Amino acid sequence: MTTGEQIIAELGNFDGAAEILQAWRDGMAPEPALLVSDWADKHRMLGSRGSAEPGPWRTARTPYLRDVMDALSPAHPARRVVFMKGAQVGGPLALDTAIPTAEGWATMGGLLVGDTLFDEAGRPCRVTGVSPVMIGRECFGITFDDGTYIVTDADHRWPVRDFTNTEQPAQRTLRTAEMIGRTKIGVSKRYRYAVDCCEPVVLPDQDLLIHPYVLGVWLGDGSATMNHISVDEDDAEIAKHLRVCGVDAVFRLPAWRKGRCANIVIDPTFRLIDDGATPARLQHRSRFTTHLRMLDVLENKHIPAAYLRASREQRLDLIRGMMDSDGSITPNGKRCEFSNTDPGLIEGIVELLRSLGYKPTIYQVASRRQVINGIDRDCLSYSRVSWTAYAEEPMFRLSRKLARMRSIERGRPLKSRRRRIVSIEPVESVPVRCIEVDSPSHLYLCGEGWIPTHNTECGNNWIGYVIHHAPGPMLAVQPTTELAKRFSDQRIDPLIEETPAIRQRVSPARSRDSGNRQLSKEFPGGQLVMTGANSAVGLRSMSARFLFLDEVDAYPGDVEGEGDPVALAEARARTFGWRRKTLLVSTPTISGLSRIEREYLASDQRRFFLPCPHCAAMQWLRFERLVWEKGEPDSARYLCEACDGAIGEQHKTAMLAGGEWRPTAIPQDPHAIGFHISALYSPVGWFSWSQTVRDWEAAQGDDRAIKTFRNTVLGETWQESGEAPDWQRLYDRREEWPPGTVAAEGLLLTAGVDVQRDRLEASIWAWAQDRQSWLVEHRILVGNPFEAAVWDELRALLGETWRHISGHRLGLAMTAIDSGDGMTTAEVYAFVRRAGAGRAIAVKGQDGLRAAIGQPSATEVRRNGRKLGGLKVWPVGSSFLKGETYGWLKLERPTAESGDPFPPGFVHLPLHAAGEEFCRQLTAEQFVARAGRNGFRRLEWVKTRERNEALDCRVYARAAAAALGMDSWGDGRWARMANALSLPAAEPAAPIHTDGAAPNSTTTTRPRGWLAPRSGWLR
Ligand SMILES: [Zn+2]
Repeated sequence: MTTGEQIIAELGNFDGAAEILQAWRDGMAPEPALLVSDWADKHRMLGSRGSAEPGPWRTARTPYLRDVMDALSPAHPARRVVFMKGAQVGGPLALDTAIPTAEGWATMGGLLVGDTLFDEAGRPCRVTGVSPVMIGRECFGITFDDGTYIVTDADHRWPVRDFTNTEQPAQRTLRTAEMIGRTKIGVSKRYRYAVDCCEPVVLPDQDLLIHPYVLGVWLGDGSATMNHISVDEDDAEIAKHLRVCGVDAVFRLPAWRKGRCANIVIDPTFRLIDDGATPARLQHRSRFTTHLRMLDVLENKHIPAAYLRASREQRLDLIRGMMDSDGSITPNGKRCEFSNTDPGLIEGIVELLRSLGYKPTIYQVASRRQVINGIDRDCLSYSRVSWTAYAEEPMFRLSRKLARMRSIERGRPLKSRRRRIVSIEPVESVPVRCIEVDSPSHLYLCGEGWIPTHNTECGNNWIGYVIHHAPGPMLAVQPTTELAKRFSDQRIDPLIEETPAIRQRVSPARSRDSGNRQLSKEFPGGQLVMTGANSAVGLRSMSARFLFLDEVDAYPGDVEGEGDPVALAEARARTFGWRRKTLLVSTPTISGLSRIEREYLASDQRRFFLPCPHCAAMQWLRFERLVWEKGEPDSARYLCEACDGAIGEQHKTAMLAGGEWRPTAIPQDPHAIGFHISALYSPVGWFSWSQTVRDWEAAQGDDRAIKTFRNTVLGETWQESGEAPDWQRLYDRREEWPPGTVAAEGLLLTAGVDVQRDRLEASIWAWAQDRQSWLVEHRILVGNPFEAAVWDELRALLGETWRHISGHRLGLAMTAIDSGDGMTTAEVYAFVRRAGAGRAIAVKGQDGLRAAIGQPSATEVRRNGRKLGGLKVWPVGSSFLKGETYGWLKLERPTAESGDPFPPGFVHLPLHAAGEEFCRQLTAEQFVARAGRNGFRRLEWVKTRERNEALDCRVYARAAAAALGMDSWGDGRWARMANALSLPAAEPAAPIHTDGAAPNSTTTTRPRGWLAPRSGWLR
């Protein structure tokens, strides 16, 4: 007799005994040598916060990931696995920020006009507008005191209470940027801003398969596989409440019971099938069990989406059911508590409570032995959710628990319904998009956290597999140390918490010396270390058999002077010889610069081939074969390359199931295999072909948006058009306006300064809201930069003003000076310190920075060995800005006949300030491919002529505007600037000729639309 049978014999026969015995046998069977995908299907759980599709991992959902994961199993011969992917089907984007909608969670990136969201009062509102995806925006991570974390951009508006005056907090609407650095009151530890928890979300009654109270009781303490619920012997009353909800419920005191455990059976109808199997099988014929199966909650306890979005009373009833069976209330009646080992249920009840306007707090409780119902059990760690509630809105139906609830008059209800902002930290820019809603305030509820999608989970499944099944030293590298920390908090901690098999192997984080730290997790037989590709120390920290290199296209080219971070990491794996394994994952970037493309091209270049539903021809999906009626994305369909038959989205699921990876090249390295997947393969319901088309149409006319589309949707590199614009064309199309004046739309003046051995060169540019720009002046200040005179001249320039067409005078809002040449750095620093940070900044070009400007870093200023103090140096994405400038320089000028306005970004050059030399300098570089170190091609900007100061000055002036935040200013700010200039000027507008033939005309009327190509003097 096995132990299991002994236990059954001791307990006596009862409903379900046979099933328990079978489960015991399954559990005792030795595990076979698993593939990573098998492991994930068997053990991996996705929590509802951490995933778009919570519940057990199912490889069948994304069949193309099976081979990618299985190549990571120790038995597979590949040593390097390369995965080049589109980000829409994976990758950490703020576009993936979860948003609660009436239909369940949606992602920011997936929202459409017409979707229903909730405003800050919990009322449904409609999405009336969706912006294109924006990149390079300044982004921030906001942490609230209940642990909620949101990534947002600088301009997101928050309805907050400002607690500067504690007695009378002021209600305000502030942008993220306005709260940075002010989250605490003075030097005290009190948090200044609070966001009200939302009012209960208002939704209509749903037609639900199982009454929410009944489902709640079962979720709380029911058997995972059937219609039995264990309850305390005193709680027979629950059966009565269940019957009120329309189900048959029987209360039983089983003969075999120990302790105070009793049993309620819902809808008790069974049939024993004798089909010769031993033991005999029980067939559930209970209607309740059938319904549980239809809701997909059997052996998969979670709160189904329909219940999360049910009416307020229905949601309350679900909570009451869970609380009656598995909840409690503190003796003083202050706090309600719900404890459970199942993270999915915990996430669910937290979401329910938040949707009802409560502020739940979640505690992790470490594993320990406990006596439950008289039985000594070894408990897994579990979570406890605790919140304040009042008798006015009961959390129970069970009278003994209900009696403890206090009235609202005795509490402090306001405090419990607010979330304080704990911190606002800059984070690396991620693609974002704005939406507009039709609620009176135009505010909407944000989601929380990030949603790691399935492609990202590939690597996480590998980590889980290593911890559980193939222990060894593992190094997981993210682009920066900051991102590694976030990866640990938001991916690895949930992976550990949500997957029981792993949870048992890693000690809880809070115990001291547990081997579980933020960037290092120890487990029997191995260790997982997380680090950033920007840290040479981190990359050298340990020998690793397994290397997980994530988002490699965002790695720096060189880490702290020690070379390529990928090579550095791989050197640490060499000692493991053929047993080592490297996974490189990324969304690609620019063709020729992209690491992941380089790696993919060196591999056997596998593509996922799918059978045509019409002719069965195997083919891989290309964007070029997608067709649609212009302006009608919903008409999108795929044309088979063999039979030209139209394939609709509805065939995708079957096609994916019949797909297979096929190599398309002979690999340079026989141990390297490479996979490429685009968003076209997204499972039905995630990212549709019509969405692909919609994004493509939205990107038209904007080079950067098209680049984003190719990178993130198609997972392809972008061929940067680095060809210089023709200087002659620029020269010929120069415009004429009075020297020293600023165009009507030019509301902001910035300067860029280039430092040479014998002179300084400065360009002054005016900027409009749509980033059109006008060269105001290019000035050369002759003098030795190691002597004071030339700097005095520059100081005078900083104090000058220029006449705006309105008659007002404009000064320089910001000047950026290049400090990167290494020789004159100290002189530049000294000048900037004297000028003050509000007037001038020191900038330095940074390789590979894919934004106009990066986060400034503090530098110590020394001169002649003497310490002068600190200074912030701003990294400038010179390559990025040169590309942007060239894109704008190539824009066509609208013809006079068309009457069209100038396109956004158009660069205006004046006859008087932009001569032949200036135009030649502005186009003096080409973006070309060169053989780099280690033989790989790399793209870089190279001078095609000696002098290029005009281009450098332009880039620095643009960086100065970016440092001011110009790219994220909203309509309101520009309107205020324009209004200020529209007021009568103190000094009368100088005469401006409106006709090239009459430069000294005495007309004093303000010229109308002198920017419009219609006006006669623009040629
Ligand atoms: Zn076909």
